[in-house]
Amino acid sequence: MDGTPNYCFASDNTSGMCPEVMQAFVEVNRGRVPSYGDDVCTAEATNAFRALFETACDVYFVFTGTAANSLSLASLCQSYHSVIVHEYAHVETDECGAPEFFSNGTKLLLASGANGKMDPHVLEQIVLKRRDIHFPKPRVVSLSCPTELGTVYTPTEVSALGEVAKRHGLRVHMDGARFANAVASLGVSPAELTWKAGVDVLAFGGTKLGSPVGEAVVFFDPALGEEFAYRCKQAGQLASKMRFLAAPWKTLLGQNLWLEIAARANGFARLLRLGMEQFPELRLLHPTEANAVFVEMPEHVHQHLNARGWRYYSFIGGGSRFMCSWSTTNEDVEALLSDIRVALS
Ligand SMILES: *Cc1c(COP(=O)(O)O)cnc(C)c1O
Repeated sequence: MDGTPNYCFASDNTSGMCPEVMQAFVEVNRGRVPSYGDDVCTAEATNAFRALFETACDVYFVFTGTAANSLSLASLCQSYHSVIVHEYAHVETDECGAPEFFSNGTKLLLASGANGKMDPHVLEQIVLKRRDIHFPKPRVVSLSCPTELGTVYTPTEVSALGEVAKRHGLRVHMDGARFANAVASLGVSPAELTWKAGVDVLAFGGTKLGSPVGEAVVFFDPALGEEFAYRCKQAGQLASKMRFLAAPWKTLLGQNLWLEIAARANGFARLLRLGMEQFPELRLLHPTEANAVFVEMPEHVHQHLNARGWRYYSFIGGGSRFMCSWSTTNEDVEALLSDIRVALS
C-alpha cells in the first residue's frame, strides 16, 4: 500500500453491492410493473422472508437501518413510553434521536452490560426502578444482534431477556443491521433467534450484507404492524419503485446467499483476529463472534497504519474496530497484518 486511503476494514458499508445483487437489478429493471410494492418481485421477496422465518410474518422494505429501527420502535410505543437499550446501542448513539423523533418523545433508557450485551437482571431492575406516573412507562426492550461490539446473543440469551420483557408487558425489538452475521455465527435458524425467542419485530439489514441500500422490517406479530405502511409513507420511506428494494432480498434469501456471504465475512474476521493475536503488543477486545474485530494498538502502530492508508474507527466501545464484509479477501487481511508486523518490528 502506498498511503492512498483504504477503507477496506473501516466498515461493512464501504463495500459496493455484491455481484449477485447487481445482476438482480439488471433483471428486475425490465418492463413496467405496478408501483408502491404491488409488484411480483416484492411479493416474492416477502414470501422468501416467510419461508426463511417459517412463519407468516409481515415485511416492509425501507431505505436505511435508522428508518427501520426508529419507525418500528415508534410503532410499538406511545409518546409517554420508554425503550430500554444497551448504552452502546446504535439507536442511542448513532441515529441522531430518530427513535425519539418518530415516536414523538419516547425516551430511551440505557442499560450497561459487558461486551455490548444486556443482562436480564439489569433489564428487570430498570423496568422495576420506577413505576409511578412521573416516569415514562417501559414498553420495549431493543437488542442489537450482533451487538455494536461484534458479539452475539444466543437464542437462550434472547429468550431470557424476552421472558423478562413478557412478564412486564414489554415488546421485544431486535436491531439486526448485521442479523445475517449473527445467524451464520450461531448456526441456528432465523426463527430460533427471533420469534421463537420472543422477538416481536426485527430490523433485518441488507446494506451491510451486500445490497446497495435497503433494510427489511419484519413483524412476527402482524397485528403490531397493522398501520406500519402509513408510518413508512409519512416518513418518506415508501419506495414507489419498490421492486428495487425488494429485488436484492429475493436474490440474497433465494439461494442461501445471505448466509454464505455472512459466514465468509465472519471467517475473515476470525482470521484477522487470529493474526492479530500473534502480536503480544496488541490487546484484542471483546469476543469476535461476527464480522468485527476490536483491538487496542500502541500509538506508533496507528501512525504507521494511517500513513500506509488504512482507515478504521476508534470511537466505538474503546479500541479500534476492523470490519469484514462480502468483499474482504485473504490479501486484504494479509496486507493489514503485514503492515502491523512492520510497525512493530
Ligand atoms: C449500520 C447500523 C444500523 C443502520 O444504520 P444506517 O446508516 O441508518 O443504515 C443500525 N444498527 C446498527 C447496529 C448498525 O451497525
